[in-house]
Order: sequence, then structure tokens, then C-alpha cells
Amino acid sequence: MAVGAANLGFPRMGKRRELKFALEKYWNGELTEDALAAAARDLRRQHWQLQSEAGIALPPSNDFSFYDHVLDMAAALGAVPARFKSSDGPIGLSTYFAMARGSQAATALEMTKWFDTNYHYVVPEFEPGMRFSLRSAKPVDEYLEAKALGIATRPVLLGPVSFVLLGKPTDASVTRAQVLRAILPLYEELLRRLSAAGAEWVQIDEPCLCLDLDSQAAELYREAYGALARVAPLPKFLLATYFGELGDNLDLALSLGVRGLHLDLVRAPGQLDTVLRHKGLSDLRLSLGLVDGRNVWRTDLSKASVLLETAIAAVGTDRLEAAPSCSLLHAPFDLDTETKLDPEVRGWMAFAKQKLDEVVLLARGVNQDAGAQDALERNAKLIEARRISPRIHKQEVERRLAAVNATMARRQSPHSARRERQAEALSLPALPTTTIGSFPQTAEVRKMRAAFRGGKIDRQSYERFLEEETARCIRFQEEAGLDVLVHGEFERNDMVEYFGEQLEGFVFSENGWVQSYGSRCVKPPIIYGDVFRPRPMTVRWARYAQSLSGRPVKGMLTGPVTILQWSFVRDDQPRSVTCRQIALAIRDEVTDLEAAGIRVIQIDEPAIREGLPLRRSDWPEYLEWSVNAFRLASSGVADGTQIHTHMCYSEFNDIIDSIVAMDADVISIECSRSRMELLDAFHRVRYPNEIGPGVYDIHSPRVPENAEIETLLRKALEVLSPEQLWVNPDCGLKTRGWPEVRDALGNMVATAKKIREGVAGS
Ligand code: GLN
Ligand code: ZN
Repeated sequence: MAVGAANLGFPRMGKRRELKFALEKYWNGELTEDALAAAARDLRRQHWQLQSEAGIALPPSNDFSFYDHVLDMAAALGAVPARFKSSDGPIGLSTYFAMARGSQAATALEMTKWFDTNYHYVVPEFEPGMRFSLRSAKPVDEYLEAKALGIATRPVLLGPVSFVLLGKPTDASVTRAQVLRAILPLYEELLRRLSAAGAEWVQIDEPCLCLDLDSQAAELYREAYGALARVAPLPKFLLATYFGELGDNLDLALSLGVRGLHLDLVRAPGQLDTVLRHKGLSDLRLSLGLVDGRNVWRTDLSKASVLLETAIAAVGTDRLEAAPSCSLLHAPFDLDTETKLDPEVRGWMAFAKQKLDEVVLLARGVNQDAGAQDALERNAKLIEARRISPRIHKQEVERRLAAVNATMARRQSPHSARRERQAEALSLPALPTTTIGSFPQTAEVRKMRAAFRGGKIDRQSYERFLEEETARCIRFQEEAGLDVLVHGEFERNDMVEYFGEQLEGFVFSENGWVQSYGSRCVKPPIIYGDVFRPRPMTVRWARYAQSLSGRPVKGMLTGPVTILQWSFVRDDQPRSVTCRQIALAIRDEVTDLEAAGIRVIQIDEPAIREGLPLRRSDWPEYLEWSVNAFRLASSGVADGTQIHTHMCYSEFNDIIDSIVAMDADVISIECSRSRMELLDAFHRVRYPNEIGPGVYDIHSPRVPENAEIETLLRKALEVLSPEQLWVNPDCGLKTRGWPEVRDALGNMVATAKKIREGVAGS
């Protein structure tokens, strides 16, 4: 038998984001449930047919979801919190969407990032006394749906152990082991029904096997798969692992009695040899993840073939299949829809549909399929063209990178000395007030931007409009009594795209959408080449805003790590190198802002925490280069120039030393929802610089009362000295409306003034 071609999951949204639009119409009451179901069925059919025609032997089923596959599993197993008041029996769409999005009566489940991707999953809650039962047969239904179309599929299930590890008990009386024991019979039932329906194989996703697992988690794995192995007849399991290497969980994975194993050989090519040499391999079927499911580049097929040949030499062809590294959920749909991309750069790229062709071609290549040769040669030519393209490699960037030294990543003096220079330059009161950067992006702002982009108004009128908005925003802040102002970010669509569009080395797709959560998609910028800044990016707006006020106006930039993290990045050099290039570009902007008379500059780094590698052993290296990139970007200024940074809600305990090492003069963080508890980490390490813990939640239109703000500030003062404390909201005000912003900031400033009097001279 020949090497097979497989896939682990396909994008759900559709080529033109049909699912997004159908969902949003349904939520708005413009589409019936039947019409939504029909739209979904149509997409599934198209996607199965597309994969089948591409040559994928058993395309995945149950990879489709109306919102999220973890939520699907929670719903199927009846893990529905009591607040949704859903009685037993089949779970309806209204309960399902209420869990995802909240309803009048009940708040939604939390969402969090799916491993180190920008996809968010809905976090299952495990409550005391929860009655688990099989409340949906979605995996079976979708298997049968494909079968009726004449397409045999391999259903995908999130594995029971990853499911319990990704969910969270809401009370200490509930353990994950209990939940596992309760759901295992339901998995058995589901698997039996899949088998009865005709499924030969089932893909069981256990991505948690690529994490550091404690002995308890390992025990959960043994228990779960031990129990499942005892039931018959069951389909054969392909245990899918991805986003990293199995590492020290390899013995565990191979002891689980599954019939197949998928390995991510893009993230962790080194594990192939270890796996092939392992005694526990026996007659396991191996799915080799050779095509990057998380990026937009063409695969170097000759390199991938070498891995495939290595595996063939060890186990022969019958037990092998070529596959993407992970589900293609994280890749855009189809490169063929891109008509405006630079043709040369486009030639280096592959989206989900093209990635399937690559998988099939890889298999055909090693199967000595005569027709494959031409395509493989074309691939080799394109890979070589990319490798040497002058579009990518800029000598000037290389030279600058080589000239970076440690001094460049260090401020001239320690914060204690800088503090005095800055006090002279800024003469701010105690507990200075400020905001995080953006002010309401009204429908009018968005309309004008769209008109400008669509060529309906010229640059001059657009810029005049932006100047008026900015001027109004400055007046508004002066009236509100804020101490450090911002220009308002009206010219920005998105905090990464705005910079990417002005930097060299980036391209933008028209349709390169990937699901972020629910119906929300993002279209990340694509970094294809050496990054540099041809000309100033924000100076014009900062200078204009500063010219309107005697108070300091903060320059507003996005940091190198966040730009990297929220883009598709090149795969031909380490992320750390790309990050350093971006850092130099931002550094240029920082020094230009300073030269233009801007005395306070904020460099946002909300994505530093989420960039942490999955394995702790990889953390130090990441933190080293990411902190360094921030320091390189921020250290080109004089002591008297004040550098701020901002991070959204993060668990800071793990990385507090790195936050200290960033050495920003002021950091603002989201704190109000955790009632200042986040500050404990800063207190524990005696954070030496200044902090603005957010005093109200900007995610809701609710206006905070003075007393609440006061309580939070007093709480902050229990762990911070008054010299350290800044007063600001949790995050940018972009999604809020002007009236509520006026009231909220008014209360914030009044409260700061009140407390300020109490601490003055202390
Ligand atoms: N300066 C940005 C803003 O205010 C920061 C956004 C963010 O933290 N994600 O909108
Ligand atoms: Zn934020």
C-alpha cells in the first residue's frame, strides 16, 4: 500500500466567510434556524467535496462548528452550567449560543486562547453536581451526512483528557478525575455509535500531550484510554498531537493502546527519529504533519520528503500518511481569491486549499507517481526563488542588525535617576491621570476611513477630518482634567495593521481571514521580508496633537513582540530575528517622536504573555529575546523622556521578572476585574518603576462610581507607594461611546484629585 494523504481539520467559515454572515444574521433575527442549518450543511458539503477532490482519503468530519469545537464537546456531554436552566434532552441552539455569548439571564462561559494560537475556545465549566449525559450526536450526524454524499470521513473528537484539562472546575469539591470518570461512558457511547454508523477511524485530538504534564494528568490519560480500550467494537483511534513535540510524554502516548499517532513535524521535526526508534511503536499508523497548518507559506516539499523517506525506511509505506501539522482551521481558506497580492510574494504562499494539494503531492512524490515530478520541480524552483529573493533580503537591515549592541538596549540611567529628569520635564502631580490611547471610534470615523480607502474622498479631506477629531479629543481631555493626554488614534484601523502598512517587509491579503472566536475573524498582516521603516509613521499626528496643548501628549506605538505575535511571520528565519528587525523600526520611530518634542511615549505590548512557548523549558529563551526587543525599541531616548508600556489582562505571576526587566518607566495594566489582585505580583518583587493599574473595566458601557474607583485606588496604595501610582482605565476606549467616556473619566479624575490631596507631601 502507498503512503496516504490526510487532513486533520478544515477552516469552517467558508471561502467568503459565509458562516460568519449566516451566524450574525441568525443572531439578529434575520435568518431562521432552518436557514442557518442549511447554510452550514452547504458549507460542510463544499468542504468535504473540495478535500475529496484534492485527493484526501478520509477527510475529517465534525471539525465544523457553529462556534467552537470545545463548546461542542461540552454541549454534547451535557456540561451545561445550572445558570442556563437547560433541562435534559437534546441541547438546542439557544442554550448553545447562550453558553457562548451570554443571554439576558446568564453570563457566557469564559473564552481563552487555544494553546499558542489566536483562536479562542470556550472554557467548559465543571460544577458540583453537574449531570453529564449525551445531549448531542453531532459527530455521528455529521459522519452520516458526509456518508450520504458518498464521502467516507474520519470524525474528529476532542479527546476526553484534553477536554477535562482545558475546562475548569468551578469549585474545589469537583476534581478533574471525577469529571473524566463521568464523561468516559459518554465517549464510549459516542464511539460505539460512530462505529455502528461505519466509521473505521476516529481522530482523537489530545493536544495537551504537547504540554508539560504532571503525574496526575498522566494518570488521567492512562485511566481514560485504559477504559476506552476495553470496549468493543470501537473505531480505530488516531491520536492527534500538535503545536509541539511529545517530548517526555512520548512513552505515555505510546502506552495508550491507540492504533495511530499524528505528530507535528513542522514545530518539532526532531521528534520523528525518536518516535521511529521507540520500542512501543509496534504496528502503529503514523500521520506525519509536514505542511504548516498555521502559516501561509508554501512547503519546501523536498525537505518534507526527506522526513517522509526517513519514516518509510523505518516502517515502510503502508502505515504512513502525509498531513498538515495541525488542523487547517488556523490557515486562511484559498490563495486563489487573492487578486491584489504582489505576484512574486504570492508565488511563495499557500492557504488551506493549496496546503491540501501539497499534502497530496508529497504522498504522490514518495509513491513514485510519475505525474508528480513536474509539480515537485516547480515547488523546488519557487522555494529557491524565495530563498535568494532581493525582495526579502535587505543588506541595510542585515548591517543594522549586526551592529546592535548591549548598550543600545539599555537606558542611560536607572529609573531612580530618570524619574527625576522626567519630573523636571513633565511637572506632573502625584497620582497622574491618563488613558491607554484610543478614544471612541464612532461610526463616522469608520465611515470616513472606508471612504478614504475606497477612493471616495481624497487624502487632504480625510486628514482634515482626522485633525478635527484629534483636536476635539484634546479639548475633551483638557476639560476632563487629565494630566497626560493622547491623540486618540482616530487614524488607526487596528494597532498592528496600522504599523504593518507603513513598514517594509509586510503584505496584506484581501481574504486571508482566520477564525478568532465565534463569528469573529482576523486578517493578520503577513511579514514576508526584512522589516524596516522607510519614513516616520506616527510623528505627524503626535506633533499635531502636542501643538494643541500645553500638557504632555503621549506618543502611541505598538511594540515589536505584539506586531510579531499578531502577524503571519516568515518561516525562513527565527522569530527572534524578525522581532529584532521590528524593534529597530520602532526604535527609529521612538527617537523621531522624541526629536519632535514628544516627552512621553507609550509602546503597547499586550501580546507578550500570550507569546510564551507551550513548554516551560522554552520560556527563558523567549523571554530573553522578547524583553530585549522591547528594550531595543525603547532605549534610544534621553533619561527625561518617559517610556510607558501597556498590557491587557494577563496572569503576571509567571513573568513578573521579565516585566521588571523591560524597564519601562510606567506600565499600565488591566486590573479592575481582578480587584487589584494582579498587583500582588508587583508587590512581591518590589516593582521599582511606576504602575497604572486600570481602575475601571472598559469592556462594558457601565460608568464606574467615585466610591468604587476610590476603593480600588486605596487598595492599590496598600501595596504601591504614592510615587509609583498612576490612574487610568483598564484599556483603550475605542469600543465605548463618548457620553459614557465623559462620565467615567470625570469620575476617575475627581477621585484621583481627592486621593492626591490625602497623599500629597506624604
Ligand atoms: N493603545 C491601544 C488602545 O488604546 C492599546 C490597545 C490594547 O491594549 N490592545 O486602543
Ligand atoms: Zn489593553
